[in-house]
Amino acid sequence: ITQFSQTIKRFGWSATFVDFDDLDAVKAAINDDTRAVFCESIANPGGYITDLDAISAISDAAGIPLIVDNTSATPYLCRPIEHGATLVVHSMTKYLTGNGTVTGGVVVDSGKFDWSANDKFPSLSEPEPAYHGLKFHETFGPLAFTFHGIAIGLRDLGMTLNPQAAHYTLMGIETLSLRMQKHVENAMEVAGWLETHDAVEAVTYAGLPSSPYNDRVERICPKGAGGLFTVRLKGGYDACVKFVDSLEIFSHVANLGDTRSLVIHSASTTHRQLTPEQQEAAGAGPSVVRISIGIEDPADLIADLNSALNAAK
Ligand SMILES: *Cc1c(COP(=O)(O)O)cnc(C)c1O
Repeated sequence: ITQFSQTIKRFGWSATFVDFDDLDAVKAAINDDTRAVFCESIANPGGYITDLDAISAISDAAGIPLIVDNTSATPYLCRPIEHGATLVVHSMTKYLTGNGTVTGGVVVDSGKFDWSANDKFPSLSEPEPAYHGLKFHETFGPLAFTFHGIAIGLRDLGMTLNPQAAHYTLMGIETLSLRMQKHVENAMEVAGWLETHDAVEAVTYAGLPSSPYNDRVERICPKGAGGLFTVRLKGGYDACVKFVDSLEIFSHVANLGDTRSLVIHSASTTHRQLTPEQQEAAGAGPSVVRISIGIEDPADLIADLNSALNAAK
């Protein structure tokens, strides 16, 4: 929210926020100036799955790229390019590396977008003065965006990944499939158990039949709805703070997608700068705790959650 409402203003850009379940609102938000549609596949803090096929049909019709943040899902659970994404972005900080040792990001280009079809993407379709008038799209075809990212973005702006972080991430990715299977298995078990606890008002995990997004799992992320979800406590803000403080196995940190289970009360930490309306809209209201389920024994996680929920009552 901060990136799209504040940071991009400094580039002279702006964004319109829309409910991706309201396809008419998505269409209505696109005008002649629109350069891209950006969404998450499985949204952080969890529970929401975007109908990527429906959204890519809209961005295709408008002739603009669809950028999908696939951090929460990972490429193991969701393959956004097969649902029409132009570019896919990941935070490597999360599941890809898997142990909170790295800060980094990835851009994956489908190579399918026609950057020269209109005049909206002159940095790719028009001559580039810094490279003797080279036209990136004409010269590099499906690799145009990637080469531009390297030649202009990395070279001139310097957001280059350090080699040790790249090494850690490559080692992490070797076990991505195994970890994601266990994250999903554990999340299903823990989320299902939490739903039955009398201190819990609701659990937003798309893997549960109670989720309004459960019917999108099979099409969008067929191997499971990930390891991230939120739990709403009946006791409100104070119970959430006490609950987080009482957990012993879960680490209280802002990261997610770690092999270790993590927990955070977003309203008093990561989402504190948002208005109460924005917090609720982001699934991070005062009564909501975000949980990132790790790959420990689920019985240990449930025992820890049970004693912390009882302490918070
Ligand atoms: C964490 C996160 C990011 C930002 O990644 P950093 O590695 O922390 O910069 C972007 N998108 C999603 C969905 C995330 O969870």
